[in-house]
Amino acid sequence: MRALFFCLLKPSDLMSWRAGRCTPMDKIHCHYHAAQPATWTCRPCARSYGDCCVPLNADAPDDAPKCALCAGTLEFLGAANSAQPFWERIPSFFAYGLQSGPLAFAALLALAGLFLPRSLLLWLLVFSVATKYFHSVIEGSSQAERQAPSLLSAFTGEGFTLFIKQLAVFMVAFGVLWLAADTGSRGLFWLVNLGLLLVMPASIIRLALDKQLGAALSPEQVGQVISAMGWRYLILCAFLFMLWQSPSWVTMMLAGGLPRVVLLPVAAFLFGYFGVVMCAMMGYAVFQYQAALGYVIADEEGQAAYPAAEFLRRKALADAQVRIKEGQLEQALEILTLALQRAPDDLALNERFHQLLYGLGARERCLRHLAHYLPLASRLSEPQAVTALLNARQLQADYLPDDALVCERLAAALLQRHKPREALSLLRNLHRRFPDYPHIARAYLLAARGFAEYLGELGPARQLLQFIRQRYPQSSLLGEVAALEATLDRLEKTA
Ligand SMILES: [Zn+2]
Ligand SMILES: [Zn+2]
Repeated sequence: MRALFFCLLKPSDLMSWRAGRCTPMDKIHCHYHAAQPATWTCRPCARSYGDCCVPLNADAPDDAPKCALCAGTLEFLGAANSAQPFWERIPSFFAYGLQSGPLAFAALLALAGLFLPRSLLLWLLVFSVATKYFHSVIEGSSQAERQAPSLLSAFTGEGFTLFIKQLAVFMVAFGVLWLAADTGSRGLFWLVNLGLLLVMPASIIRLALDKQLGAALSPEQVGQVISAMGWRYLILCAFLFMLWQSPSWVTMMLAGGLPRVVLLPVAAFLFGYFGVVMCAMMGYAVFQYQAALGYVIADEEGQAAYPAAEFLRRKALADAQVRIKEGQLEQALEILTLALQRAPDDLALNERFHQLLYGLGARERCLRHLAHYLPLASRLSEPQAVTALLNARQLQADYLPDDALVCERLAAALLQRHKPREALSLLRNLHRRFPDYPHIARAYLLAARGFAEYLGELGPARQLLQFIRQRYPQSSLLGEVAALEATLDRLEKTA
C-alpha cells in the first residue's frame, strides 16, 4: 500500500477543523490509546482513532475504514498528526541531498560554472532549470517522498515558468527593499530587510505548492503558511538562514587556497546541494503542518494493511476493545461471536471472548466456551490456559476439563507455577475418568512428584508409583518410577 493521496480540504472543513476540539498545533491522540497519535476521526461520535484501532484491508484498499462505534466512514487526519517534527529530522535532509538526483543536479551547476560562457540567456536557462528542480524537491518532500526527483525531471514536464514567477517574487522583494532604502532611514531599511527574509520561505512554499504568482505574493496566503506553523516557523527560518549562509562560508574558507577558476564551480556545487537541503526541509515542514495548511497527505510508507482474513480478525479485536472501553460489553460479545464463527480456533479472539464472558459473570456461557477454549489454549499458550482454568474454578469449584491430555498439560503447568493442589485435582482418578487414555502412567508419575516434592506427602506418592508398577509393568517410565521411589526412601529415612 504505497498509495499516496493528496487532496485539498474545502476551506469550510479547514475552518471547522480549527474551530473544533483542537488547534492544529496540538497532536490528537487515539481516544483509546493515549500514547498513540490519531490518524482517523469520526466527527459524529467525536472519537479519534490511531492506527492501533483501525486496521486496513490490503485486499480492498479502496474501502474506507469504518468507525467502530457508528460504522460511519472515518475521516483521515493525514500523517501529519503522527509526523516527526522537522527539527528532529535535520540529518535526513542532509542525507536527502546526497542522493543521485541532487548530486547530479549540483554537479551540473558546477559544470555550468566552469564552462558556461557569460551569456545572460544561457544563465537564465540554467536558473530556470534550477528553480524547477528546487520546487519539485519542495513538492516531493511535502508529500513525504523520500526519493529525490531525478535530474532528468528538471528538464522535462511543466514548470519552467516557475523561474519567471520566482524571479517576479524576488523583484517585488527588491522593489520593497529599494523603497525602504530610499527613505534614508537605516532602521527602517533593516526592519524591512529582516521582514522580507522572514516572509520569503513562506512565499517560496506557497509558490511551490500552488504554482500561482498571486498566491506567492498574497499576504493572506503567505500569512497562512506562517500562522499554520506558529513560532516553529521561526525555527525553520533560523535553519534555512544557516543553510543559506553555508555555501558562502565554505567558499570563503576555500578562497585562500584555491584559484578563482576552481572556486566558482565549487560555489555553484555547494549552492545546488544546500539549496536542495533547504527545499527538502521546507517541503517536510509543509508535510508536518499539512492539516493546518489545508492539505491531507498520507505518509508514503503508509499504514500496514492486512490480507482480508487477518484484517477481519484484527478489526474484530480492535472493535471489541473499543466497545469494552466504552462499556458496551454486549456489543463487544456480539463482535467477537461473529469473528469466532469465521475463525473458531484463533487464540487471541478466544482469549478476549473468554475474558469478556468471565468479566460479565456469564457463568453458563463461559463454561460452555471453556470446553473449546481450554484445549486450544493448553496447546498454544500455557499461561493463558492456566488463567482460564483458574477462572473456571471460580465459576465452578470442581471444574474439570473433559479431555485427559488437557488435564495433564494443565497439571504440569500448574505445578511449575507452584499450585500443587489445583494441579493434583486435575489428575485425580484420571484412570477412571479416561480409561482409554494412553498416558496414565506419565500423568500419575507427575502426580506422584507433585505430592512428594510440592506437598511433602510421601504416602500418596508411593501409592501412585505402586499403581503404575502394577497396572503398567511394561511401561518405559519404570526407570523414573524407581528413581523417585529411591528418593522417597531417602526422604523417609531423614524424616
Ligand atoms: Zn487506539
Ligand atoms: Zn462514529
